Amino acid sequence: MQKDNIKKGNINVETENIFPIIKKFLYSDHEIFLRELVSNAVDATQKLKALSSMGEFKGEMGDITIDIEFDKDKKTISIIDRGIGMTEEEVDKYINQIAFSSAEEFLEKFKGIDEASIIGHFGLGFYSAFMVADRVDLITKSWKEGAKAVKWSCDGSPEYTIEEVEKEERGTEIILHIAEDSLEFVDETRILELLKKYGKFLPTPIRFGKEKTWETPEGEEKAVEKEIDRIINNTNPLWKKAPSEIKEDEYNDFYRELYPMSFDEPLFNIHLNVDYPFNLTGILYFPKAKQSIEVQKEKIHLYSNQVYITDQLEGIVPDFLTLLHGVIDSPDIPLNVSRSYLQSDANVKKISGHISKKVADKLEEMFKNNREDFEAKWDDINVFIKYGMITDEKFYERAMKFMLFKNIEGKYFTADEYKKHIETLQKDKNDTLVYLYTNDAVAQHSYIENAKEKAYDVLIMDGVLDSHFVNHIESKFEKSRFARVDSDVIDKLIEKEEEIPSKLSEDEIKSLTEVFENQVDKEKFMVSTANLSESEMPIIITQAEFMRRWKDMQQLSGQQAFMPQMESYNMVINSNHPLMGKILSENDEGKKQELSKQIVDLALLSQNILKGEALTEFVKRSVNLIAEE
Ligand code: ADP
Repeated sequence: MQKDNIKKGNINVETENIFPIIKKFLYSDHEIFLRELVSNAVDATQKLKALSSMGEFKGEMGDITIDIEFDKDKKTISIIDRGIGMTEEEVDKYINQIAFSSAEEFLEKFKGIDEASIIGHFGLGFYSAFMVADRVDLITKSWKEGAKAVKWSCDGSPEYTIEEVEKEERGTEIILHIAEDSLEFVDETRILELLKKYGKFLPTPIRFGKEKTWETPEGEEKAVEKEIDRIINNTNPLWKKAPSEIKEDEYNDFYRELYPMSFDEPLFNIHLNVDYPFNLTGILYFPKAKQSIEVQKEKIHLYSNQVYITDQLEGIVPDFLTLLHGVIDSPDIPLNVSRSYLQSDANVKKISGHISKKVADKLEEMFKNNREDFEAKWDDINVFIKYGMITDEKFYERAMKFMLFKNIEGKYFTADEYKKHIETLQKDKNDTLVYLYTNDAVAQHSYIENAKEKAYDVLIMDGVLDSHFVNHIESKFEKSRFARVDSDVIDKLIEKEEEIPSKLSEDEIKSLTEVFENQVDKEKFMVSTANLSESEMPIIITQAEFMRRWKDMQQLSGQQAFMPQMESYNMVINSNHPLMGKILSENDEGKKQELSKQIVDLALLSQNILKGEALTEFVKRSVNLIAEE
């Protein structure tokens, strides 16, 4: 049947058929068509609200809920709004020309660029419908008085038709005739999933299908099951409210709304609220520390005017902030560009720098207002802060005000406080300040005791990032050095001007060294002597700081420490220990060997490196020695 009021036209586009290209480009992300169309419906509704509050629109708003419907038999999905609608001229202006030229511009811009490098979310807007539909009908009636409803229809070629139709209500209805290869979308579960993903916090209510609830009718006692319309979204999410009007509990409730599958409670949060020079709102939550800094389930969600965009924030916020949870909502983050472009975008840099500053400010404020509480949280938040300090120069500077060192007594110090704390005792003869630390207070117990005996202080550095962190701050601190307590004997770690004199002659030391060299594998142990105090152990085994750091770094970066046989130790003989005199004066060669072997094994044992046959031998020998007594 030929209707004479149907007009035909060509969409303002040069390409023969742009739709196959759109399809190809958006291959991995077809699902965003729904986000785009629902966002348009929301925009149209918000615009009408604005017109109404300005007094331009004087009619009834009515029920402005946006409806999403689908029909499995007809293979359609519809998005129906009661927003401003469009007149025929507006359809021509906004749909036939503007929308398409922006799509074209987009394709022009990314010509020749690898598909995978394009961010999946660039708001192709209305035309993303053609990723899943082989025909799109748009029926719309403007809010303007006397406006006539029109139906626009297009099958994906540059040709379209437009005709006048009957439509009762103001607003726009988009009907997608879903293509054969996209029928997966004509499905309740799939649509619900997409609406929940992208539309959970849209500012206009979205209605889709029905859900069951229990209700007790008046005068009755028993609750009955009832079917009600399912509303997808919370139109007034917490981050949009003024921080002063929010109770602490609401932040925790909102956390659960964001991450329904998470059992953890966040430690504290930061409410972001900026309107100049860019627009940014959001809430960032600090999670409790996890064992590793690897992939986390709960990520920060990025929104643009309450439309969910992505949780892949790499390049948008500084790396260390991706360890936080929560939401960031900023319409000023450009979405229609590739990741590499995003990273160099000045606006994004500003936003990212701003968030980093806000986080530092909040931490500083917490530290100043309630140091005790901040210290209590330190074990949970230090990984995050250290990560920030290592990777973000500005954050490092800000964090120096609240970064804490923790020593083995469990006391916390700022960097300045700690420096003062150790300044008098822990300077070596070259005036270098030596920071002693342990990464395992149990295994390194004897070394810590030696340090304590000298009234030195020892820091605990046992976190996942601490070996990196030590490297980093060492390079920043002036005239300072970090040394793990077991990396040498204590008098060598902090060498002083005055030395303890040796009780032995040079010849005696030489023969002593020979005796002990015979007890170990010379490839693995560097034997030396030192004049330590009598109270220290006769033999001390250490591993050089550089050697161990190198090993730690390799482990952290996931590499196997190659050539494990390269692992070597220092064996220091305390020439002042009374046992050394005993060994030297022993005339029975067998006894001499036995005694020195026993001392060496004890030292190895204390380091947990006496294993297998050597350990069995040691136990046997010990039993014999006790029996001889
Ligand atoms: P954008 O939304 O980024 O402007 P789109 O391609 O999604 O780009 O839409 C182009 C224009 O079409 C919109 O700016 C708007 O003027 C108009 N439009 C699209 N959907 C609707 C709708 N549901 N109601 C009213 N106008 C609409």
